[in-house]
Amino acid sequence: MVADNAENTANEQMDILKSTQTIIRTALEKLGYPDEVFDLMKEPVRMMTVRIPVRMDDGSIKIFTGYRAQHNDAVGPTKGGVRFHPNVSEKEVKALSIWMSLKAGIVDLPYGGGKGGILCDPREMSFRELEGLSRGYVRAISQIVGPTKDIPAPDVFTNSQIMAWMMDEYSRIDEFNNPGFITGKPIVLGGSHGRESATANGVTMCIEEAAKKRNINLKGARIVIQGFGNAGSFLSKFLHDKGAKIIGISDAYGALHDPEGLDIDYLLDRRDSFGTVTNLFENTITNKELLELDCDILVPAAIENQITEENAHNIKASILVEAANGPTTLGATKILTDRGILLVPDVLASAGGVTVSYFEWVQNNQGYYWSEEEVEEKLHKVMVKAFDNVYQTAETRRIDMRLSAYMVGVRKMAEASRFRGWI
Ligand code: GLU
Repeated sequence: MVADNAENTANEQMDILKSTQTIIRTALEKLGYPDEVFDLMKEPVRMMTVRIPVRMDDGSIKIFTGYRAQHNDAVGPTKGGVRFHPNVSEKEVKALSIWMSLKAGIVDLPYGGGKGGILCDPREMSFRELEGLSRGYVRAISQIVGPTKDIPAPDVFTNSQIMAWMMDEYSRIDEFNNPGFITGKPIVLGGSHGRESATANGVTMCIEEAAKKRNINLKGARIVIQGFGNAGSFLSKFLHDKGAKIIGISDAYGALHDPEGLDIDYLLDRRDSFGTVTNLFENTITNKELLELDCDILVPAAIENQITEENAHNIKASILVEAANGPTTLGATKILTDRGILLVPDVLASAGGVTVSYFEWVQNNQGYYWSEEEVEEKLHKVMVKAFDNVYQTAETRRIDMRLSAYMVGVRKMAEASRFRGWI
């Protein structure tokens, strides 16, 4: 019986929608909001499921399932990426849209959260098939998206090329050239300088702030990064350039470890566009072993539910910065916090991406473009302010940084919903 209960709790914790709702409820209670505010925020206000037919290269037609969730549009249009992944589910997209609302609140953007996803494996699709799928998705969701309604962006396994196809398709439907419909575009189509590396840049800024709090000098600090995709690869480069020792990295198939520091430039050169690189090596370790390596800073930058009650006791880092969405379960958060590990949560650490997406949208709207330095300076200001705000709230209220980030993140959305007379 006890074992059953323990198993149920573990399963519930892996349910990212449920655990997000649990923290939102606590955050709203602590802020003194009544139950109906939680009732509004526990699910997206709008959720669309679409079926997208695509003619494959062999002549057959394959029907793909896609989603677009819009969590809350009280503050402004909804905003958030679209992921292409075989594990996409309705529940995941819903939870991710809630996290986007929180991110927008934490870095104080005039947006609510949205998220999209398509069940597919882009690693097994041709360029032509991916184009068909991207355009089909935009046609299917075109009624509920738009530059003043809901603005998509890249996420797991989507990139600037996919954004370009989607922007082109939307512009055809809308009969206007409409760059502000989507962010993360190539620079020549109205993309922003610094957008591609923005998530990693924001994570780096959070790592710098967290390291100051723990008196860790980044020069020579031993860092482990799980994942070598968009966030993980740029991050390894930025930290390496700052003199840190990247002693471990991983991809979906395994991990590399060198206590003296890996040759990051070589690995960046050899990775494929999905971040795969460990297949080139023989002496690999597992992702599980990677997370438990002796290091100063651990950065999960891959997928959800990687640090759980099972391995939280074995984490040796003194700072954990979540570059991925949802890598640590609620139970693991408690264990790590009790062990005195400083945990910088996803909704804060990974908010650099949507921040520069907002800059891109602003530039598109005004038709005037900023230099890379301007973007970097503005991003730095936003991230440091957000970090300080969340850190101070955690200190003052004696709570962990995840709960404090949620408190900071829900406040503006709750206030805006109240002023609109929704609650
Ligand atoms: N997909 C990214 C995220 O999860 C970026 C979203 C955006 O730029 O709108 O934050």
